[in-house]
Amino acid sequence: MSNNIMSQQDCNFGVVTIPACEVSIIDESDVIIVGGGPAGVMAAVSATRMGVSVVLIERNGFLGGAMTMHLPIQGLVDRNGKIIIKGVVSEFIELLRLQGGAYHKLTLSPQTNNTLIIDPEIVKIVCQEMVLDAGVKLHYHTMLSDVRVDENGINTIIVQNKSGRQAIKGRFFIDASGDADLADLLHVPIQVGREKDGLPQSVTLTFRVDGVDEDSMRRAILANPELYNLYEPAYAALRDDRKHCLVGCSNLVEQAQKEGFPIPFGKVVTCSLMPEGAVLVNMVHIENVRCHEASDLSYAEIQSRKQIPVMLKFLQRYMPGFERAVLTTSSHEVGVRETRRISGEYTLQLEELREGIKPFDTIALSGYPVDIHSPDGKTVELEHVPVYGIPFRCLIPKGVDNLLVAGRSLSASHEALASVRVMAPCMAMGQAVGIAAALSIRDGCINRDIDITELQKILKQQGALI
Ligand SMILES: Cc1cc2nc3c(=O)[nH]c(=O)nc-3n(C[C@H](O)[C@H](O)[C@H](O)COP(=O)(O)OP(=O)(O)OC[C@H]3O[C@@H](n4cnc5c(N)ncnc54)[C@H](O)[C@@H]3O)c2cc1C
Repeated sequence: MSNNIMSQQDCNFGVVTIPACEVSIIDESDVIIVGGGPAGVMAAVSATRMGVSVVLIERNGFLGGAMTMHLPIQGLVDRNGKIIIKGVVSEFIELLRLQGGAYHKLTLSPQTNNTLIIDPEIVKIVCQEMVLDAGVKLHYHTMLSDVRVDENGINTIIVQNKSGRQAIKGRFFIDASGDADLADLLHVPIQVGREKDGLPQSVTLTFRVDGVDEDSMRRAILANPELYNLYEPAYAALRDDRKHCLVGCSNLVEQAQKEGFPIPFGKVVTCSLMPEGAVLVNMVHIENVRCHEASDLSYAEIQSRKQIPVMLKFLQRYMPGFERAVLTTSSHEVGVRETRRISGEYTLQLEELREGIKPFDTIALSGYPVDIHSPDGKTVELEHVPVYGIPFRCLIPKGVDNLLVAGRSLSASHEALASVRVMAPCMAMGQAVGIAAALSIRDGCINRDIDITELQKILKQQGALI
């Protein structure tokens, strides 16, 4: 790290003691959910619909988490284009489409199965509408900071917001923070990164450019395919539609690098956005950072923003159609693919993905490729997998009775997470844990004793595919 950026070691200036204090209890409900990303939103909606009271806390002033980073929704279909995730996710997509927030069809994206282009601003609106319509009590700009437990498990979370420290009491808790913040406070055993060296996937600050002539881009690539080094089926995808999702052109990047452009990542990764000429750029790459550590997160933000002008100049100079591209917005924060993964009652492994195993406690399907933005290799490793089942046991943290985890901090190996981490499976996990939390309240049982058959029955009744 450069001199003026703190590393974890630099941050050691000793300790202070914080005296015990009283904080006001500002809310109370059956289920408390930490984090309003794809998993947390769906968990909140489905728990509330089961008749329990739900409080959702979100540190931002909007919902959607990484779904608002201009990214398309991936993981909805298998490699053959067959839909594998429905239920409340279909309802969400329908609502997005009604408000012009999702493209009318999936965009062909042969490397990563087909994807749904969405509008991040409409995502924020629809997520909030769904949550409020369901009757969820929402606390924005409110961050989890501590937790209180008794012999039955967690009873209170302590939050920090503009009013200071406050408390919220609950009976059952869902950690949808993406970083397993709540599980970590409870000392649930945690894994980070690759088994061999603990390095997680690299991080990316995504940004939007406008003024791209996508027709001219497509024409140029299709006229001279040998110049662009794309995966063969990607040319057909460009022919299929005016919208695109592109991963490739490594030869352009190499050429630019030789000509002095400090491009950190070996491929062009761009995707159309809803407005004409608006394109997501997913090429900033910062490696070797563990973004559940505050200093690494700061470092990643600083370095990412430095890369944006470089990427923009590269695209303007080397990519056809991008000559007049202008930077319009960057995402609200750096996009973090992987931080803490809980140790759960079961840990999803790569072999099970490869074999397409659907275990007895499957609560959602996934068939997205293993997509590793290498922690050190400056590239993406992709491996296609068949459709497999996500076991409910991966969402049950070890050692805490009234907590479930949904989203990218589930119990999975580094490699398995690289498949299951995309938005559609995260939303499907959210739906399942929302129902499961309500069942735990209804039946007065702990997380490990939730009736899986009943959970699966309700999921099916709600249209989910398992
Ligand atoms: C750069 C990048 C590109 C990606 N590309 C795609 C793609 O093209 N398609 C796709 O489908 N997926 C993609 N993904 C993956 C996907 O976006 C995420 O894995 C998914 O959003 C995870 O959902 P989640 O709900 O678990 O977590 P998140 O989306 O991270 O949501 C977590 C929420 O919790 C809140 N939160 C966190 N900590 C606290 C706290 N302590 N207190 C209160 N609130 C808190 C956050 O603000 C956030 O709203 C990408 C991810 C990244 C980083």
